[in-house]
Amino acid sequence: MRLPIVDYLDEVLAGIGTDNPGATADYIPELADADPSFLGVCVATIDGTIYGAGDIDVPFSIQSISKPFAYALALAEHGLEHVLERVGVEPSGEAFNELSLEEGSGRPLNPMINAGALTTHALLGGPQADANERFEIVRRGMSAFAGRELDVDENVYKSERETAYRNTAIANMLRSYGTITGDPNGVVDGYTRQCSVLVTLRDLAHMAATLANAGRRPDTGEQIVPRSVVRQVLSVMMTCGMYDAAGDWMSTIGFPAKSGVAGGILGALPGQVGIATFSPRLDQHGNSVRGIRICDRMSKDMGMHIMEGAEPARSVIRRDRVLTLPGNHRVRVCSLQGTIGFSGAERVLRTLAENPDNAGRVVIDLRRAYAVNDVARRMIAEAARRLQLDGLSVSLLDPDRVLADSDAGEAEVISSLDKYRPY
Ligand code: GLU
Repeated sequence: MRLPIVDYLDEVLAGIGTDNPGATADYIPELADADPSFLGVCVATIDGTIYGAGDIDVPFSIQSISKPFAYALALAEHGLEHVLERVGVEPSGEAFNELSLEEGSGRPLNPMINAGALTTHALLGGPQADANERFEIVRRGMSAFAGRELDVDENVYKSERETAYRNTAIANMLRSYGTITGDPNGVVDGYTRQCSVLVTLRDLAHMAATLANAGRRPDTGEQIVPRSVVRQVLSVMMTCGMYDAAGDWMSTIGFPAKSGVAGGILGALPGQVGIATFSPRLDQHGNSVRGIRICDRMSKDMGMHIMEGAEPARSVIRRDRVLTLPGNHRVRVCSLQGTIGFSGAERVLRTLAENPDNAGRVVIDLRRAYAVNDVARRMIAEAARRLQLDGLSVSLLDPDRVLADSDAGEAEVISSLDKYRPY
């Protein structure tokens, strides 16, 4: 069977039509000359499948899409507190290359604008590292996310470095406030190289899916950066990733994303998919015009807005039934299913608290509960404990040991229902 998703992506690109407004980034000569006809989209699932349409193997420079990855690497290396002392997390509402710092502290407002990205880059490898070492850290890190060795485009690097007047000014400003130490020119060198790393949509989709998969590579299962780091990175992408258009993006498209001035956009819908688009012409904010159109269409068609929450709470109880055994013993079997977080567990607790049939034993069937988060695990175990305090016998039908480390009192753990089946 040819998968309909591929046809869908073809159709999305066809729907973009021939209209190709905007302009390539003119402040970097090499990007100004980019072929504006390129157009592509890739979607990567968190179990490693990639769907694509259009120009998905054309290399282009990653530019600002490197910023969330450098931020992730700095967080993994130094911890949140250390990084927060130097770079904030507030949306700036200003252009990406604005010469501005937070009043009072001298911190850049966030790691997605250039001031914050230069500071983040400067953190990599510690104060002793030089431009090449910092670049290697970020190149290797991004390669780990992408699943192949990425390399720099020397022409883009030279072209941007020769004209990096603005970023040099920002780096000097950061140096004057003591936000970065060492040579500001070296920071601009390393950062510009970081932005000149070549990627294809396939690479970006892998990188995005790794973010969507809480930092774990979908294909190999390798944890590239800790889960908590990814949460921080996605939060900042959500609020600051699309520059001064972040609010508009959040309300209309609604998944964390980062754009780059070469025309790429990377988006990650946590727990679901990674998305990457490419079209070189940009709007006045520096975001790819047709990339935004593609993301907008996909977000609407596929219900990808993060605020369009699913309703897991209603569906966590698969079945709740009472079996009558010989001797008129009643066993209640409450079967749970799917992803269970706080709201789902609350539903389970409320259901278990009622016992209309006066069953003497409750079996909590966890065989189909495949993603139970910490709080839900603790809540369900606590319910098992309290039911025992109320005088009931409790069994956990838990062959995969979902509740293994939780305190469920004296509940017996069983791996099949056999002994409670009526004969
Ligand atoms: N290298 C670019 C700069 O620093 C990145 C900007 C972007 O992609 O938005 O100006």
